[in-house]
Amino acid sequence: MKVKSGDFVMPGDVLGVSEQFLPDEWTYDDEGYIKSAIIGNVSINNSNKKISVVPSRGNPNVLHLGDIVYGQITDVRGQRALIDVQGMKDNDRQLALPYMAAIHISQVKKGYLEKLTDAFRIGDVIEAKVSRIMGDNLDLNTSDKESGVVKAMCTRCRAFMIPTEKRDELYCEVCDRKERRKVSSEYDY
Ligand SMILES: [Zn+2]
Repeated sequence: MKVKSGDFVMPGDVLGVSEQFLPDEWTYDDEGYIKSAIIGNVSINNSNKKISVVPSRGNPNVLHLGDIVYGQITDVRGQRALIDVQGMKDNDRQLALPYMAAIHISQVKKGYLEKLTDAFRIGDVIEAKVSRIMGDNLDLNTSDKESGVVKAMCTRCRAFMIPTEKRDELYCEVCDRKERRKVSSEYDY
């Protein structure tokens, strides 16, 4: 554990030990461990060894209904795909919580989807809209045109695939094969 000035920290994060630093603004000594009291960025004064945390500007990045997020598919099982949420679209600030999310098969696209694996595969990067929030658990929806897979690898050779002229279809140039996905209009290739 080695923090430096500018590091993003959360309440309770250990910043160092009391032999290294003196707690200052928004930090405290908890039985020899210097911890952060708030969400913010570490500031270390090297001359007097005081360590403080500068509160994040504005609100911490808590998600709201309708927000657009990026994430990676971690599992596709039966009726649900699971997503590790990595950040908000058009917003560089870190999320306040390590959000986990799911997409139900009925929320993937307009119209009927027979198999969830025709829309998502493990490792796909997706863009999706937040449709339900339960603490750090989210439900997402990808039925909008811009939502869906923005980057995907071939399930056989792991090369990045490119969209075809057909809707919701990707092509692997290495294997000369096509795969189905719910492809976003913002697919990145
Ligand atoms: Zn391939």
